[in-house]
Amino acid sequence: MATLYLHCAICGRKQAGGLLSAAAWGQAPLSVGAALDHPAMSDSSVRACPTCIERDADWVTTARVALGAG
Ligand SMILES: [Zn+2]
Repeated sequence: MATLYLHCAICGRKQAGGLLSAAAWGQAPLSVGAALDHPAMSDSSVRACPTCIERDADWVTTARVALGAG
């Protein structure tokens, strides 16, 4: 079984995915057409780690910009 990794779009941190970690991580949908081949992308949404979410109230924008989809 392949291990699924969560990948933060902002700081690049990686964490093995699981029920607990996935719930703590942020997930925001990207606009249709922003089909980017980036490790932080997952099912057309972008993920950010709990640290970045806590530090940046506007982390969704920061993450999108980091992916070049802002
Ligand atoms: Zn992060």
